[in-house]
Amino acid sequence: MSKIIVANCFQETNSFHPNPTNYEHFDVRFGQDLFDAGRQDISGALNVFSQQANIELVPAYGASMGAGGTIAQMCFDRIAEECLGAIEENNVDVDALYFSMHGAMAAEEEKDPEGYLLEKVRKLLGANVPIVISLDMHGTLTRRMLRNIDGAAILHTYPHIDWYQLGERAASMLLCILEGAKPFIASVYTPTMVRGDELKTATGVHGTLIRYCERLEERNDVLAAGIMLGHPPTDVPEQGSRIVIVTDGNKKLAAQEALKLGTDFWAMRARMQCVLYRVEDAIEVAEKANGPVIFSDAADATSSGAPGTSNAILKGFLQSDYTGRVLFPIRDEPAVEKAMETGIGHTIIVSLGGTKDSRFIPLEVEVMVEMLSTGNYFSRDGRMENAGFLAVLRAKNITIVVSTQSGVLCDYSMYLGLGQDPKKFDVIIVKLPHTPHDLYDAWAVRNMTIDVPGAASPNIKTLGHQIVPRPMYPLDEDMSFIPRVEIFS
Ligand SMILES: [Zn+2]
Repeated sequence: MSKIIVANCFQETNSFHPNPTNYEHFDVRFGQDLFDAGRQDISGALNVFSQQANIELVPAYGASMGAGGTIAQMCFDRIAEECLGAIEENNVDVDALYFSMHGAMAAEEEKDPEGYLLEKVRKLLGANVPIVISLDMHGTLTRRMLRNIDGAAILHTYPHIDWYQLGERAASMLLCILEGAKPFIASVYTPTMVRGDELKTATGVHGTLIRYCERLEERNDVLAAGIMLGHPPTDVPEQGSRIVIVTDGNKKLAAQEALKLGTDFWAMRARMQCVLYRVEDAIEVAEKANGPVIFSDAADATSSGAPGTSNAILKGFLQSDYTGRVLFPIRDEPAVEKAMETGIGHTIIVSLGGTKDSRFIPLEVEVMVEMLSTGNYFSRDGRMENAGFLAVLRAKNITIVVSTQSGVLCDYSMYLGLGQDPKKFDVIIVKLPHTPHDLYDAWAVRNMTIDVPGAASPNIKTLGHQIVPRPMYPLDEDMSFIPRVEIFS
């Protein structure tokens, strides 16, 4: 009987978000409650483990949320204490640990929270208990993390559609190690911060590298091959990208393939930057377009940890003489409240934007309150969702959907619930770095990423990094660098 502890610690920190992440933002779970959360990576791992006889699974602890600001130190201290306490409590005859992580956490003082946890867990469990982690690709895999694990599985797809398979791959690797595989980790770091369309796995150069990784993973002596892209909005000392190859004792192959992929990755750094349009240039393109055009406000993408309160693109339209129909989403609790007090059909002057992000000066806009909602709507798969209170405001040709929550600004079904079909607009602003193909790109004639300020701006040079190592591409464009292999085993 093999006893495997399962734990989870997951958050994507945006260091440029104006507000900290606190304990209450996390979904914290102890024991069986962790498995009941239905996380896809853990579900995938459980699927693999459940096919084995003689495995005892011990769900220990989980603390999970999406993207947000820097983690308050007190919050991380509490999570670390609870997590390590739960693992220690179960640390009797433990054979292995599967730890589901994101990889982009950063606390106020501890800039490598995952490394801290893994170092402490390694001390608790000892050198001989295998530790395998799974990671989102948007994070920093630090040397401290690598020194304290036996294997890492990394998401292969962006947009992310392989969470379940990620868990399966991590669990399979852990079982191989329990059955006697001797993990050997070779890694190549590159000082790069990357964004843009080339990172879409289906169509970009990232996909070419990932397909190479997948071919490697088909070999019996390769336990994992993956790429940590790094996460530009997390300002941390080991920011950068990393190739990780884990073989079953094949040292030569691990080093050789890590170096090959790392060298290829470094060579493609300039391609892996975002093509950006100034708002006024994008409006000109929209004027000439013969169909709907998407404006991606990646800089204020709530999925990347921005607050969703940017009015920069709205300002661009209000200052232009564009007459097409525009759909603009924004999060602004006081504006929704004012619209609710005013009532449908009335015209008011409302202040829009900047409520959670002082980069943006609130805009005073005359609007008609067109619709108000408690936020209930049916998702595409028929589930009832609640988006919180919503207001649909109309400023001439611009339909402004104002929400009270950050997570719903791009939900196509939510718009339909408000009687607004994005397809019926000429310009649709989406606060995402990339829009789901079937929901938006499939019918839009253009999709442009707009160069506006924001906590998640893909214009990496404007973010204001203070901690990342230098030189770093693209902050130091002319830098030279020679990729080299690091061994962790
Ligand atoms: Zn990600």
